[in-house]
Parts: sequence; C-alpha cells; structure tokens
Amino acid sequence: MDFSVDILGCGSATPTVRHQPTCQVVSHRRRLMMIDCGEGAQLQMRRQRLQFGRLRHVFISHIHGDHFLGLPGLLSTMALHDTGGTVTIHCFRRGAELLRSIMNVLCSETPFQIEYDIIEPERAVILDDDALTVSTFPLYHRVPAVGFRFDEKPKLRHIDGEAVRFHGVSNAWMERLRRGEDYVAPDGTVIANDRLTRPADRACSYAYCSDTMFDPRVAEAVAGVDTLYHESTYLDDRLEKAAPRGHSTAAQAGRIATLAGVRRLVLGHYSKSYDSDEPFAAEAATTFAGPVITAHEGLRLDLDF
Ligand SMILES: [Zn+2]
Repeated sequence: MDFSVDILGCGSATPTVRHQPTCQVVSHRRRLMMIDCGEGAQLQMRRQRLQFGRLRHVFISHIHGDHFLGLPGLLSTMALHDTGGTVTIHCFRRGAELLRSIMNVLCSETPFQIEYDIIEPERAVILDDDALTVSTFPLYHRVPAVGFRFDEKPKLRHIDGEAVRFHGVSNAWMERLRRGEDYVAPDGTVIANDRLTRPADRACSYAYCSDTMFDPRVAEAVAGVDTLYHESTYLDDRLEKAAPRGHSTAAQAGRIATLAGVRRLVLGHYSKSYDSDEPFAAEAATTFAGPVITAHEGLRLDLDF
C-alpha cells in the first residue's frame, strides 16, 4: 500500500478497555505521519508494527490531553534509538512550548532533530512536496482546533514496456513520457504519448476531522475527498450534549460526508458512554449513502482505492 492509514486509537477523552485515546498514522510511500498522539500511542505503534524510525511528521489537531499526552513518551522512547533525521511537530504554539519544556527536562539531547511548525487556526498548507500536500482547516471545538487534509499530487503515467522497446525509445526519455510528453524520435518522427504509456493511477485524498461540532464549513474544507475520518463522539440520543461540548453525533458526521461529497466515511472518537460501535455506522447511514466504516484499533485502511 502506497497510501494508507492505521488507526491506533479512536476513543474519546476517557479511555475505555475497548478504545485508546486518539492517534492515527498515515503512511505515504513508506514515510509515516502521525495525526494526534494520545497516551499509549507508542505501544500501539509496536503492536501495529509501525517503525519509530520512519516517523517524520506529527500533526496535533488541538491541545487536549487525549490528543497530545502520548507525544512526550513517544519522543523519549525514540530518543533511545539512533533513528537520525528530523521529526517535525506541527502544533499550536502553546503545545509546542509545552512539549519543548517537557523534552528539555526529559531528554535534552535526541539523536534526531525535533522541529516545530506552528499551526495557525486558519486554512494553510503545512507540507508540500512532489508527491503530497497536507493542509489544515479550522474545526469548531472548545479550544482552537484544526483538521488535516492529505492530497496526493497527480501521478505519473505508466510506461508501456513493449511499446517503448518496439519504437526504440531511449531511457533518457522515460521520465518525460511519464509526465505525458509526446516522443520525438531522432529522425523527427513524433509518436503520441498514449501509444507509449498507460494512464496514471488516480491521486487520492484523505481528511481528518476531530474534534469538532457540526458545522457546514467543515464540509467545504473537505469537499471531494475520497476518505473522510469524522468524529462521532455521540449518537443522536445525546444530541443536546454534542455542540456545547464541541463534538458531533454519527448522524451529523454523515451529513458532513454528504455535503462534502466524499466517497467513504470513517467514524471514531466514541464516547465512553457507549458499549458498542455498531449503532454509529447505522446512524451515519441515515444521513450518508456511501460506505461507512467504524474505526477500531488495529484497522488499516488503504487510501488508494
Ligand atoms: Zn478535544
């Protein structure tokens, strides 16, 4: 899998024996990027066989303990191993200051570089390379909070091995063919690109929204993503609690998915008040016609689908 997400924790603030606090790891071309880091995240990484040394980015949506407190432990453990490289923590300023002072006490020297990228509450691109863009957008919670959107860049076309051999195309041309250029032979003959290549795979996208109350502006920010993870702390039986606490119900998550026109909805951040996740999918299905997946620890989802 070139682009996938592992669910390490999908419970809400109070941990239960069924669910860990929030944490996920997005993997893109072997690079790991963590979203939120509740307590126990490092143990879940071990259980789910995700290598510390491949972790390059940590995105923290907001500074509440159940999304943040796993980070000092994880970084301290990573400091025991000679991982090298740089880990960038994308975080609100208060969280960055807090983490910096904790790390100064716990382990002032790490065998890898820790960089801090300060998140602002408005929409912004926070990571951009030739394969992927990661951007933030506002969520509507009790403290400043952002969601994260991962968009793959358009991919390269596939070379048709037989066709390029037949036309005697030199290796120097392969990259240009992948990018869609027509081939110009040494004698000036032009061969259309689609006779030498096959179409590129689709570029896929993923968005993460936790924690937030229902707000149509969230749907605008995640419009058109393939896979949407949206919190569903409650069912509609506790609807009156959801907005004042800065959370959503499963039916509201479904409405966001419908408004945004996503292909697939993943639910999580379940309140401790429920002892089964099944009703969440059923309730979201009343407001969203596409597939609904209830997250659980250990779930790996292919995001390239
Ligand atoms: Zn929160």
